[in-house]
Amino acid sequence: MPPMSGLIRTAAALILALCLSGLAEGRELKDVRLGVNGDVSRFVLEVDDAIDYKIFSLADPYRIVIDVSETEFGSRSQGKGKGIVSHYRFGLFKAGTSRIVLDLTAPAAVKAAFVIPARDGFGHRLVIDLVPTDRAAFLAALRRPEEAAPAAPTQEARPPSEQAAAGRRVIVIDPGHGGVDPGASSVNGEVEKNITLRVARVVRDELERSGVYTVKLTRDRDIFIPLRDRFQIARAAGANLFVSLHADSFKTDEVRGGSVYTLSERASDSEAELLAAKENKADIIAGIDLGDEPPEVSSILIDLARRETMNFSAHFATILVNELGQVMPLRRNSHRFAGFVVLKAPDVPSVLFEMGYLSNPKDAANLASAAQQRRLAAALKSALDQYFLKLASH
Ligand code: ZN
Repeated sequence: MPPMSGLIRTAAALILALCLSGLAEGRELKDVRLGVNGDVSRFVLEVDDAIDYKIFSLADPYRIVIDVSETEFGSRSQGKGKGIVSHYRFGLFKAGTSRIVLDLTAPAAVKAAFVIPARDGFGHRLVIDLVPTDRAAFLAALRRPEEAAPAAPTQEARPPSEQAAAGRRVIVIDPGHGGVDPGASSVNGEVEKNITLRVARVVRDELERSGVYTVKLTRDRDIFIPLRDRFQIARAAGANLFVSLHADSFKTDEVRGGSVYTLSERASDSEAELLAAKENKADIIAGIDLGDEPPEVSSILIDLARRETMNFSAHFATILVNELGQVMPLRRNSHRFAGFVVLKAPDVPSVLFEMGYLSNPKDAANLASAAQQRRLAAALKSALDQYFLKLASH
């Protein structure tokens, strides 16, 4: 039927045009660079479209944070420092806002900040000049923007009753890191945030295919999410289980293998404690501080719920370690305990799976392999099946 196909062609052309216009609106990174001239350290961000910006600073450690209109950074997410900047990183902070965080070697003041519109073959350039200052002056100049407070989870909450009606268990998979927080770096040049997202999608597909589980990811794009928002997403979804995915790195390349962590106020060993401290830094890395968080509401009821949740978590971790051991190498003491913020939902059993060491070439290659990602997903599914079966028989 020619008129129909003509209509389809028109519709297709229209959709294509819409997609293209959507793409054209995206601001893209052209270059990012640091220069030093005398005591001035100059940071330049060059993009292909007009750009808005907002600058604020954070202490302990000293950082300058620059929020700009949403920008597509491509595969780049960090760079080496120069002058008073020791290191810098950038990424999506939230929809509409990209963030650049400059880590400083010492307190610095913003001497100048301005935008040079595109000309002479250059794109639009945001220029920020930093000069050394002292701690007192740095602290006096601290300005916390309102946006720095963790935003409420954006995901739509569905009442648990609706989930139950659907008859499926709800699993929330949390790809660690994201956006301005890249996580650990791999020996093959990849960063943790991309690996965790890739594996999370494979796990989601595997679990959804079974028809038994409904899976929600805390993020399905390269965006920063504060640690507390991650478990709030699980709570809002009425999750039966929360699994956070990570990959570690170590100073030497021999250490390898996965491990599964559950929450405990007391770490099982110093390594677990160090790892939790490292993972808990995500919010600081992204430029928000937890200092202003309201203290967690504590009551006997919540404590009871939390203790029960911790038991369920530990029970699932035992099963998971057993399944994972059949498809990948694990560390000794492969189930460990520590105070990971992301595992702190009082009422959702939660585990954190460190999938291996990106500093180890074999682990890094395994995590990049689609076949191995599918094996991990299958092991996770098998562990979930056993966990819920046992739960039902009690
Ligand atoms: Zn991590």
